[in-house]
Amino acid sequence: PPGLGSWTARRARSTPEHVALVHGDSRTTYAQLDDRVRRLAAGLRGLGVEPGDRVAYLGPNHPAFVETMFATTALGAVFVPLNTRLAADEVAFAVADTEPRVLVTAPDVSSAAMLTSSGSMAAVTTLEVGGTHDEVIATSDRADPVVTDPDDLAVLMFTSGTTGRPKAACLTHANLTWNALDVVVDVDLASDEVCLLSAPLFHAAALGMTCLPVLLKGGTLVLEQAFDPERTLDLVEREGVTIMFGVPTMFAALARTPRFADADLSGVRYLLCGGAPVPPSLLDTYADRGPAFLQGYGMTEAAPGVLLLDPAHARSKAGTAGRPHFFTDVALSPSGEILVRGPHVVPGYWRRPEETAAAFTDGWFRSGDVAEIDDEGFHRIVDRVKDLYISGGENVSPAEVEGVLTSHPDVLDAAVVGVPDDRWGEVGHAWVVLVPGAATTPDDLVAWLDGRLARFKTPRTVDVVDTLPRNPTGKLDKPALRRSLGQ
Ligand code: AMP
Ligand code: MG
Repeated sequence: PPGLGSWTARRARSTPEHVALVHGDSRTTYAQLDDRVRRLAAGLRGLGVEPGDRVAYLGPNHPAFVETMFATTALGAVFVPLNTRLAADEVAFAVADTEPRVLVTAPDVSSAAMLTSSGSMAAVTTLEVGGTHDEVIATSDRADPVVTDPDDLAVLMFTSGTTGRPKAACLTHANLTWNALDVVVDVDLASDEVCLLSAPLFHAAALGMTCLPVLLKGGTLVLEQAFDPERTLDLVEREGVTIMFGVPTMFAALARTPRFADADLSGVRYLLCGGAPVPPSLLDTYADRGPAFLQGYGMTEAAPGVLLLDPAHARSKAGTAGRPHFFTDVALSPSGEILVRGPHVVPGYWRRPEETAAAFTDGWFRSGDVAEIDDEGFHRIVDRVKDLYISGGENVSPAEVEGVLTSHPDVLDAAVVGVPDDRWGEVGHAWVVLVPGAATTPDDLVAWLDGRLARFKTPRTVDVVDTLPRNPTGKLDKPALRRSLGQ
Protein backbone atom coordinates (compact mmCIF):
# COMPACT_ATOMS: atom_id res chain seq x y z
CA PRO A 1 0.00 0.00 0.00
CA PRO A 2 1.11 3.55 -0.73
CA GLY A 3 2.93 4.72 2.37
CA LEU A 4 3.97 8.28 3.15
CA GLY A 5 7.43 7.59 1.77
CA SER A 6 6.02 7.11 -1.74
CA TRP A 7 4.20 10.46 -1.91
CA THR A 8 7.00 12.45 -3.55
CA ALA A 9 7.55 9.70 -6.14
CA ARG A 10 3.84 9.76 -6.98
CA ARG A 11 3.78 13.55 -7.18
CA ALA A 12 6.93 13.55 -9.34
CA ARG A 13 5.08 11.20 -11.68
CA SER A 14 1.98 13.39 -12.03
CA THR A 15 3.14 17.00 -11.42
CA PRO A 16 6.96 17.02 -11.73
CA GLU A 17 7.23 20.71 -12.63
CA HIS A 18 4.90 22.07 -9.92
CA VAL A 19 6.71 23.91 -7.16
CA ALA A 20 6.44 21.89 -3.94
CA LEU A 21 8.48 24.07 -1.57
CA VAL A 22 9.45 27.72 -1.39
CA HIS A 23 11.96 28.77 1.26
CA GLY A 24 13.53 32.20 1.03
CA ASP A 25 14.79 32.44 -2.55
CA SER A 26 14.90 28.69 -3.07
CA ARG A 27 12.17 26.85 -4.97
CA THR A 28 11.94 23.07 -5.20
CA THR A 29 9.74 21.29 -7.76
CA TYR A 30 8.18 17.91 -7.03
CA ALA A 31 10.72 16.25 -9.37
CA GLN A 32 13.60 17.91 -7.50
CA LEU A 33 12.08 17.12 -4.12
CA ASP A 34 11.66 13.46 -5.07
CA ASP A 35 15.24 13.30 -6.31
CA ARG A 36 16.54 14.72 -3.03
CA VAL A 37 14.27 12.42 -0.98
CA ARG A 38 15.50 9.32 -2.83
CA ARG A 39 19.15 10.31 -2.45
CA LEU A 40 18.70 11.10 1.23
CA ALA A 41 16.93 7.74 1.70
CA ALA A 42 19.89 5.95 0.13
CA GLY A 43 22.27 8.00 2.27
CA LEU A 44 20.36 7.22 5.48
CA ARG A 45 20.35 3.54 4.56
CA GLY A 46 24.12 3.79 4.14
CA LEU A 47 24.30 5.20 7.68
CA GLY A 48 22.60 2.04 8.92
CA VAL A 49 18.94 3.13 9.05
CA GLU A 50 16.72 0.04 8.76
CA PRO A 51 12.91 -0.31 8.66
CA GLY A 52 11.50 0.57 12.10
CA ASP A 53 14.59 2.60 13.11
CA ARG A 54 14.08 6.22 14.15
CA VAL A 55 15.47 9.35 12.48
CA ALA A 56 14.99 12.56 14.48
CA TYR A 57 14.87 16.14 13.21
CA LEU A 58 15.61 19.10 15.47
CA GLY A 59 15.27 22.28 13.47
CA PRO A 60 12.94 25.01 12.28
CA ASN A 61 10.69 24.95 9.21
CA HIS A 62 12.99 24.22 6.27
CA PRO A 63 12.90 21.97 3.17
CA ALA A 64 15.24 19.62 5.08
CA PHE A 65 12.34 18.82 7.45
CA VAL A 66 10.17 17.68 4.54
CA GLU A 67 13.03 15.81 2.84
CA THR A 68 14.01 13.98 6.01
CA MET A 69 10.42 13.01 6.80
CA PHE A 70 9.82 11.51 3.34
CA ALA A 71 13.28 9.89 3.07
CA THR A 72 12.89 8.27 6.50
CA THR A 73 9.42 6.91 5.81
CA ALA A 74 10.55 5.79 2.32
CA LEU A 75 12.89 3.38 4.15
CA GLY A 76 10.05 2.15 6.39
CA ALA A 77 11.79 3.98 9.24
CA VAL A 78 10.16 6.36 11.72
CA PHE A 79 10.48 10.15 11.65
CA VAL A 80 10.75 11.94 15.01
CA PRO A 81 10.33 15.74 14.79
CA LEU A 82 11.56 17.53 17.93
CA ASN A 83 10.50 20.92 19.30
CA THR A 84 13.28 23.51 18.87
CA ARG A 85 11.99 25.38 21.95
CA LEU A 86 12.91 22.53 24.28
CA ALA A 87 15.79 22.82 26.71
CA ALA A 88 18.81 20.54 26.20
CA ASP A 89 17.69 18.19 29.03
CA GLU A 90 14.29 17.78 27.41
CA VAL A 91 15.80 16.96 24.01
CA ALA A 92 18.11 14.48 25.73
CA PHE A 93 15.01 12.85 27.26
CA ALA A 94 13.28 12.61 23.86
CA VAL A 95 16.41 11.14 22.28
CA ALA A 96 16.80 8.57 25.08
CA ASP A 97 13.10 7.67 24.75
CA THR A 98 13.09 7.17 20.97
CA GLU A 99 16.74 6.11 20.39
CA PRO A 100 17.19 7.56 16.90
CA ARG A 101 19.96 6.17 14.72
CA VAL A 102 20.37 9.57 13.03
CA LEU A 103 19.64 13.07 14.33
CA VAL A 104 19.31 15.88 11.79
CA THR A 105 19.97 19.26 13.40
CA ALA A 106 20.09 22.88 12.30
CA PRO A 107 23.06 25.04 13.27
CA ASP A 108 20.91 27.72 14.93
CA VAL A 109 19.24 25.43 17.50
CA SER A 110 20.93 26.03 20.86
CA SER A 111 19.80 22.78 22.51
CA ALA A 112 21.34 20.82 19.61
CA ALA A 113 24.67 22.59 20.04
CA MET A 114 24.63 21.97 23.81
CA LEU A 115 23.89 18.27 23.33
CA THR A 116 26.51 17.60 20.70
CA SER A 117 29.18 19.40 22.72
CA SER A 118 28.16 17.58 25.93
CA GLY A 119 28.78 14.21 24.27
CA SER A 120 25.26 12.88 25.01
CA MET A 121 24.81 12.28 21.26
CA ALA A 122 27.84 10.01 21.01
CA ALA A 123 25.78 6.99 19.94
CA VAL A 124 23.77 8.98 17.37
CA THR A 125 24.97 9.96 13.90
CA THR A 126 24.35 13.69 13.55
CA LEU A 127 23.71 15.42 10.21
CA GLU A 128 23.64 19.19 9.97
CA VAL A 129 21.24 21.04 7.68
CA GLY A 130 23.26 23.12 5.23
CA GLY A 131 26.28 20.86 5.89
CA THR A 132 26.53 17.08 6.15
CA HIS A 133 22.80 16.68 5.41
CA ASP A 134 23.32 18.25 1.96
CA GLU A 135 26.56 16.34 1.41
CA VAL A 136 24.76 13.04 1.95
CA ILE A 137 22.12 14.07 -0.59
CA ALA A 138 24.77 15.18 -3.11
CA THR A 139 26.87 12.02 -2.84
CA SER A 140 24.26 9.23 -2.57
CA ASP A 141 22.46 7.17 -5.21
CA ARG A 142 18.69 7.08 -5.47
CA ALA A 143 16.69 4.58 -3.39
CA ASP A 144 13.14 3.47 -4.25
CA PRO A 145 10.52 3.73 -1.47
CA VAL A 146 9.91 0.39 0.25
CA VAL A 147 6.46 -1.15 0.61
CA THR A 148 4.96 -0.39 4.03
CA ASP A 149 1.88 -1.60 5.86
CA PRO A 150 -0.77 1.10 6.59
CA ASP A 151 -0.44 0.31 10.29
CA ASP A 152 3.35 0.69 10.31
CA LEU A 153 4.69 3.53 12.38
CA ALA A 154 5.57 6.62 10.30
CA VAL A 155 6.03 9.50 12.76
CA LEU A 156 6.57 9.71 16.52
CA MET A 157 5.37 13.05 17.79
CA PHE A 158 5.73 14.19 21.38
CA THR A 159 2.75 15.62 23.18
CA SER A 160 2.56 17.00 26.69
CA GLY A 161 1.38 14.37 29.12
CA THR A 162 -0.95 14.87 32.05
CA THR A 163 1.56 13.04 34.23
CA GLY A 164 5.30 13.57 34.26
CA ARG A 165 7.35 13.66 31.07
CA PRO A 166 5.97 14.08 27.52
CA LYS A 167 5.01 10.96 25.61
CA ALA A 168 5.25 10.27 21.89
CA ALA A 169 2.08 9.53 19.93
CA CYS A 170 2.52 6.67 17.43
CA LEU A 171 1.32 8.10 14.10
CA THR A 172 0.98 5.41 11.46
CA HIS A 173 1.01 5.80 7.67
CA ALA A 174 -2.77 5.24 7.76
CA ASN A 175 -3.29 7.86 10.50
CA LEU A 176 -1.49 10.60 8.56
CA THR A 177 -3.01 9.64 5.22
CA TRP A 178 -6.62 9.58 6.47
CA ASN A 179 -6.18 12.91 8.22
CA ALA A 180 -4.74 14.44 5.05
CA LEU A 181 -7.77 13.10 3.14
CA ASP A 182 -10.10 14.65 5.73
CA VAL A 183 -8.43 18.03 5.15
CA VAL A 184 -8.42 17.73 1.35
CA VAL A 185 -12.15 16.96 1.47
CA ASP A 186 -13.31 19.41 4.14
CA VAL A 187 -11.05 22.36 3.31
CA ASP A 188 -11.73 21.70 -0.37
CA LEU A 189 -8.01 21.95 -1.25
CA ALA A 190 -7.13 22.69 -4.87
CA SER A 191 -4.01 21.44 -6.65
CA ASP A 192 -2.76 25.01 -7.18
CA GLU A 193 -2.98 25.99 -3.53
CA VAL A 194 -0.09 28.11 -2.20
CA CYS A 195 0.06 27.68 1.55
CA LEU A 196 2.08 29.99 3.78
CA LEU A 197 3.30 28.11 6.83
CA SER A 198 5.14 29.86 9.64
CA ALA A 199 3.79 27.72 12.49
CA PRO A 200 6.28 25.01 13.44
CA LEU A 201 6.15 21.73 11.51
CA PHE A 202 7.17 19.80 14.63
CA HIS A 203 3.60 20.23 15.91
CA ALA A 204 0.77 18.07 14.60
CA ALA A 205 -1.33 21.10 13.64
CA ALA A 206 1.04 22.43 10.96
CA LEU A 207 2.14 19.00 9.78
CA GLY A 208 -1.31 17.44 9.61
CA MET A 209 -3.53 20.38 8.69
CA THR A 210 -1.36 21.93 5.97
CA CYS A 211 1.98 20.33 5.08
CA LEU A 212 0.79 16.80 4.32
CA PRO A 213 -2.59 17.60 2.70
CA VAL A 214 -1.10 20.38 0.53
CA LEU A 215 1.71 18.09 -0.69
CA LEU A 216 -0.74 15.20 -1.22
CA LYS A 217 -2.79 17.46 -3.48
CA GLY A 218 0.25 18.82 -5.33
CA GLY A 219 0.17 22.40 -4.05
CA THR A 220 2.99 24.67 -2.91
CA LEU A 221 4.22 25.16 0.66
CA VAL A 222 5.92 28.44 1.50
CA LEU A 223 8.03 27.61 4.56
CA GLU A 224 8.86 30.33 7.06
CA GLN A 225 10.89 29.90 10.24
CA ALA A 226 8.81 32.36 12.25
CA PHE A 227 5.81 34.61 11.87
CA ASP A 228 6.61 38.16 10.80
CA PRO A 229 3.61 40.35 9.85
CA GLU A 230 5.46 42.59 7.36
CA ARG A 231 7.11 39.67 5.65
CA THR A 232 3.82 37.78 5.58
CA LEU A 233 2.21 40.59 3.58
CA ASP A 234 5.20 40.61 1.17
CA LEU A 235 4.94 36.85 0.65
CA VAL A 236 1.17 36.96 0.15
CA GLU A 237 1.70 39.26 -2.82
CA ARG A 238 4.98 37.80 -4.15
CA GLU A 239 4.01 34.12 -3.98
CA GLY A 240 0.27 34.43 -4.61
CA VAL A 241 -0.61 32.82 -1.27
CA THR A 242 -4.07 31.21 -1.17
CA ILE A 243 -4.04 29.75 2.37
CA MET A 244 -2.45 30.96 5.57
CA PHE A 245 -2.18 28.78 8.64
CA GLY A 246 -1.93 30.10 12.19
CA VAL A 247 -3.54 31.03 15.47
CA PRO A 248 -6.07 33.89 15.93
CA THR A 249 -3.51 36.18 17.65
CA MET A 250 -1.30 35.94 14.55
CA PHE A 251 -4.04 37.16 12.23
CA ALA A 252 -4.84 39.92 14.74
CA ALA A 253 -1.17 41.01 14.65
CA LEU A 254 -1.26 41.00 10.84
CA ALA A 255 -4.28 43.31 10.90
CA ARG A 256 -2.40 45.76 13.16
CA THR A 257 0.40 46.40 10.66
CA PRO A 258 0.12 49.82 9.00
CA ARG A 259 0.24 48.25 5.53
CA PHE A 260 -2.71 45.97 6.23
CA ALA A 261 -5.31 48.49 5.01
CA ASP A 262 -3.70 48.66 1.55
CA ALA A 263 -2.60 45.04 1.24
CA ASP A 264 -4.19 42.93 -1.48
CA LEU A 265 -5.56 39.86 0.26
CA SER A 266 -8.10 39.05 -2.45
CA GLY A 267 -6.15 35.96 -3.58
CA VAL A 268 -6.16 34.44 -0.08
CA ARG A 269 -9.04 31.96 0.14
CA TYR A 270 -8.66 30.74 3.71
CA LEU A 271 -7.14 31.59 7.03
CA LEU A 272 -6.83 28.20 8.67
CA CYS A 273 -6.86 28.68 12.40
CA GLY A 274 -6.55 26.52 15.49
CA GLY A 275 -6.02 26.57 19.22
CA ALA A 276 -8.81 28.96 20.21
CA PRO A 277 -12.05 30.33 18.73
CA VAL A 278 -11.76 33.33 16.37
CA PRO A 279 -13.45 36.32 18.07
CA PRO A 280 -16.22 38.05 16.03
CA SER A 281 -14.18 41.29 16.02
CA LEU A 282 -11.46 39.51 14.06
CA LEU A 283 -14.06 38.14 11.63
CA ASP A 284 -15.15 41.77 11.11
CA THR A 285 -11.57 42.90 10.46
CA TYR A 286 -11.19 40.45 7.59
CA ALA A 287 -14.75 40.72 6.27
CA ASP A 288 -14.85 41.77 2.57
CA ARG A 289 -11.04 41.46 2.27
CA GLY A 290 -11.10 38.04 0.58
CA PRO A 291 -10.08 35.35 3.04
CA ALA A 292 -12.59 33.32 5.04
CA PHE A 293 -11.83 31.75 8.41
CA LEU A 294 -11.69 27.98 8.81
CA GLN A 295 -11.32 26.98 12.44
CA GLY A 296 -10.05 23.64 13.64
CA TYR A 297 -9.93 21.68 16.87
CA GLY A 298 -7.75 18.63 17.23
CA MET A 299 -4.90 16.91 19.01
CA THR A 300 -1.65 15.15 18.22
CA GLU A 301 -3.26 11.76 18.88
CA ALA A 302 -5.77 12.39 16.04
CA ALA A 303 -3.11 13.40 13.50
CA PRO A 304 -4.66 16.01 14.40
CA GLY A 305 -8.01 17.08 12.84
CA VAL A 306 -11.20 16.36 14.78
CA LEU A 307 -13.63 19.29 14.45
CA LEU A 308 -13.85 22.01 11.80
CA LEU A 309 -15.92 25.20 11.74
CA ASP A 310 -16.57 26.03 8.09
CA PRO A 311 -16.64 29.63 6.79
CA ALA A 312 -20.40 29.55 6.20
CA HIS A 313 -20.93 29.13 9.95
CA ALA A 314 -17.99 31.22 11.21
CA ARG A 315 -20.32 33.98 12.37
CA SER A 316 -23.57 32.20 13.24
CA LYS A 317 -21.65 29.57 15.22
CA ALA A 318 -18.85 31.82 16.53
CA GLY A 319 -17.24 30.42 19.68
CA THR A 320 -17.85 26.83 18.66
CA ALA A 321 -15.24 24.46 17.24
CA GLY A 322 -17.59 23.16 14.56
CA ARG A 323 -18.46 19.67 13.43
CA PRO A 324 -16.44 16.45 12.95
CA HIS A 325 -14.28 15.95 9.86
CA PHE A 326 -15.65 13.61 7.18
CA PHE A 327 -13.84 10.45 8.36
CA THR A 328 -13.99 11.33 12.07
CA ASP A 329 -16.47 10.14 14.67
CA VAL A 330 -16.98 12.21 17.79
CA ALA A 331 -19.07 11.31 20.84
CA LEU A 332 -19.51 12.90 24.25
CA SER A 333 -19.06 10.76 27.35
CA PRO A 334 -21.70 11.00 30.12
CA SER A 335 -19.55 13.74 31.72
CA GLY A 336 -19.26 15.63 28.40
CA GLU A 337 -15.70 14.60 27.52
CA ILE A 338 -14.99 14.56 23.77
CA LEU A 339 -14.29 11.00 22.58
CA VAL A 340 -12.71 10.52 19.14
CA ARG A 341 -12.65 7.52 16.84
CA GLY A 342 -11.48 7.17 13.26
CA PRO A 343 -8.76 5.87 10.96
CA HIS A 344 -6.51 8.81 11.91
CA VAL A 345 -6.57 8.14 15.67
CA VAL A 346 -3.26 6.71 16.87
CA PRO A 347 -3.01 3.15 18.19
CA GLY A 348 -1.26 4.48 21.30
CA TYR A 349 1.88 5.97 22.81
CA TRP A 350 5.46 4.89 22.22
CA ARG A 351 6.60 2.49 24.96
CA ARG A 352 3.82 3.57 27.37
CA PRO A 353 1.34 0.68 27.65
CA GLU A 354 -0.29 2.04 30.80
CA GLU A 355 -0.84 5.53 29.44
CA THR A 356 -2.13 4.03 26.20
CA ALA A 357 -4.65 1.89 28.10
CA ALA A 358 -5.78 4.91 30.13
CA ALA A 359 -6.26 7.05 27.01
CA PHE A 360 -8.88 4.80 25.38
CA THR A 361 -12.35 3.57 26.37
CA ASP A 362 -13.99 0.95 24.12
CA GLY A 363 -11.86 2.04 21.16
CA TRP A 364 -12.56 5.75 21.67
CA PHE A 365 -9.71 8.17 22.40
CA ARG A 366 -10.38 10.32 25.46
CA SER A 367 -9.48 13.91 24.56
CA GLY A 368 -9.53 15.37 28.07
CA ASP A 369 -11.62 18.26 26.72
CA VAL A 370 -15.23 18.86 27.71
CA ALA A 371 -17.77 20.07 25.15
CA GLU A 372 -21.43 20.86 24.65
CA ILE A 373 -23.18 20.09 21.37
CA ASP A 374 -26.07 22.08 19.91
CA ASP A 375 -29.00 20.67 17.96
CA GLU A 376 -27.20 21.26 14.65
CA GLY A 377 -24.15 19.27 15.75
CA PHE A 378 -21.77 22.15 16.52
CA HIS A 379 -19.44 21.57 19.46
CA ARG A 380 -18.45 24.20 21.99
CA ILE A 381 -15.34 23.43 24.02
CA VAL A 382 -16.26 24.43 27.58
CA ASP A 383 -13.62 22.92 29.85
CA ARG A 384 -10.65 20.60 30.20
CA VAL A 385 -10.60 17.61 32.52
CA LYS A 386 -6.87 17.21 31.92
CA ASP A 387 -4.54 19.56 33.76
CA LEU A 388 -2.99 21.64 30.96
CA TYR A 389 -2.54 25.27 29.99
CA ILE A 390 -1.44 26.95 26.75
CA SER A 391 1.40 29.50 26.69
CA GLY A 392 2.31 31.19 23.43
CA GLY A 393 0.60 28.40 21.47
CA GLU A 394 2.54 25.65 23.28
CA ASN A 395 0.71 23.23 25.58
CA VAL A 396 2.23 22.97 29.05
CA SER A 397 1.66 20.11 31.45
CA PRO A 398 1.82 21.42 35.05
CA ALA A 399 2.66 17.88 36.21
CA GLU A 400 5.83 17.93 34.11
CA VAL A 401 6.93 21.31 35.50
CA GLU A 402 6.11 20.16 39.07
CA GLY A 403 8.21 17.03 38.48
CA VAL A 404 11.25 19.04 37.37
CA LEU A 405 10.85 21.53 40.26
CA THR A 406 10.73 18.76 42.88
CA SER A 407 13.90 17.23 41.42
CA HIS A 408 15.74 20.28 42.82
CA PRO A 409 17.50 19.16 46.02
CA ASP A 410 15.96 22.00 48.08
CA VAL A 411 12.37 21.51 46.85
CA LEU A 412 10.07 19.20 48.81
CA ASP A 413 6.83 19.86 46.97
CA ALA A 414 5.60 22.00 44.06
CA ALA A 415 2.37 23.02 42.34
CA VAL A 416 1.89 24.86 39.04
CA VAL A 417 -1.15 26.46 37.40
CA GLY A 418 -1.60 28.61 34.29
CA VAL A 419 -2.58 32.24 34.93
CA PRO A 420 -3.90 34.67 32.28
CA ASP A 421 -1.29 36.79 30.49
CA ASP A 422 -1.85 39.48 27.86
CA ARG A 423 1.08 38.52 25.68
CA TRP A 424 1.26 34.69 25.97
CA GLY A 425 -2.39 33.82 26.71
CA GLU A 426 -1.32 32.05 29.88
CA VAL A 427 1.92 31.75 31.86
CA GLY A 428 2.85 29.43 34.71
CA HIS A 429 2.68 30.32 38.39
CA ALA A 430 4.40 27.97 40.85
CA TRP A 431 4.24 27.37 44.58
CA VAL A 432 7.14 25.50 46.17
CA VAL A 433 7.71 24.04 49.61
CA LEU A 434 11.41 24.07 50.50
CA VAL A 435 13.43 21.67 52.61
CA PRO A 436 13.59 23.19 56.16
CA GLY A 437 16.42 25.70 56.42
CA ALA A 438 17.03 25.91 52.64
CA ALA A 439 17.99 29.38 51.41
CA THR A 440 17.03 28.90 47.75
CA THR A 441 15.12 31.89 46.36
CA PRO A 442 12.51 31.96 43.58
CA ASP A 443 15.13 33.59 41.31
CA ASP A 444 17.60 30.79 42.07
CA LEU A 445 14.95 28.25 41.08
CA VAL A 446 14.13 29.98 37.79
CA ALA A 447 17.85 30.19 36.96
CA TRP A 448 18.28 26.50 37.80
CA LEU A 449 15.46 25.58 35.39
CA ASP A 450 17.43 27.10 32.48
CA GLY A 451 18.62 24.21 30.29
CA ARG A 452 16.31 21.79 32.14
CA LEU A 453 12.94 23.13 31.04
CA ALA A 454 11.90 25.07 27.93
CA ARG A 455 11.33 28.80 28.49
CA PHE A 456 7.64 28.48 27.66
CA LYS A 457 7.25 25.94 30.50
CA THR A 458 9.29 27.88 33.07
CA PRO A 459 6.98 29.51 35.65
CA ARG A 460 6.95 33.28 35.38
CA THR A 461 6.38 33.68 39.12
CA VAL A 462 7.27 31.44 42.05
CA ASP A 463 5.94 31.66 45.63
CA VAL A 464 7.65 29.88 48.51
CA VAL A 465 5.01 28.47 50.89
CA ASP A 466 4.93 26.21 53.98
CA THR A 467 2.43 23.65 52.67
CA LEU A 468 0.34 22.92 49.60
CA PRO A 469 -3.38 22.08 49.76
CA ARG A 470 -4.04 18.46 48.89
CA ASN A 471 -7.32 16.56 48.84
CA PRO A 472 -7.80 13.34 50.89
CA THR A 473 -6.30 11.17 48.11
CA GLY A 474 -3.13 13.26 48.13
CA LYS A 475 -3.85 15.06 44.85
CA LEU A 476 -2.99 18.74 44.65
CA ASP A 477 -6.13 20.84 45.16
CA LYS A 478 -5.73 23.01 42.04
CA PRO A 479 -9.12 24.77 42.44
CA ALA A 480 -8.07 25.91 45.92
CA LEU A 481 -4.69 27.07 44.59
CA ARG A 482 -6.39 29.03 41.79
CA ARG A 483 -8.80 30.59 44.28
CA SER A 484 -5.82 31.75 46.35
CA LEU A 485 -4.75 33.78 43.31
CA GLY A 486 -8.24 35.25 43.06
CA GLN A 487 -9.12 33.18 39.97
P1 AMP B 1 -1.81 18.73 21.23
O1 AMP B 1 -2.00 17.29 21.57
O2 AMP B 1 -0.55 19.26 21.78
O3 AMP B 1 -2.00 18.94 19.78
O4 AMP B 1 -2.95 19.57 21.98
C1 AMP B 1 -4.30 19.21 21.87
C2 AMP B 1 -5.14 20.02 22.84
O5 AMP B 1 -5.11 21.42 22.52
C3 AMP B 1 -6.59 19.65 22.80
O6 AMP B 1 -6.87 18.46 23.52
C4 AMP B 1 -7.24 20.89 23.39
O7 AMP B 1 -7.16 20.89 24.80
C5 AMP B 1 -6.37 22.02 22.83
N1 AMP B 1 -7.01 22.56 21.61
C6 AMP B 1 -6.73 22.24 20.32
N2 AMP B 1 -7.50 22.93 19.44
C7 AMP B 1 -8.31 23.70 20.19
C8 AMP B 1 -9.36 24.65 19.88
N3 AMP B 1 -9.71 24.93 18.62
N4 AMP B 1 -9.99 25.24 20.92
C9 AMP B 1 -9.65 24.95 22.19
N5 AMP B 1 -8.68 24.09 22.56
C10 AMP B 1 -8.02 23.46 21.58
MG1 MG C 1 -1.73 16.32 23.99
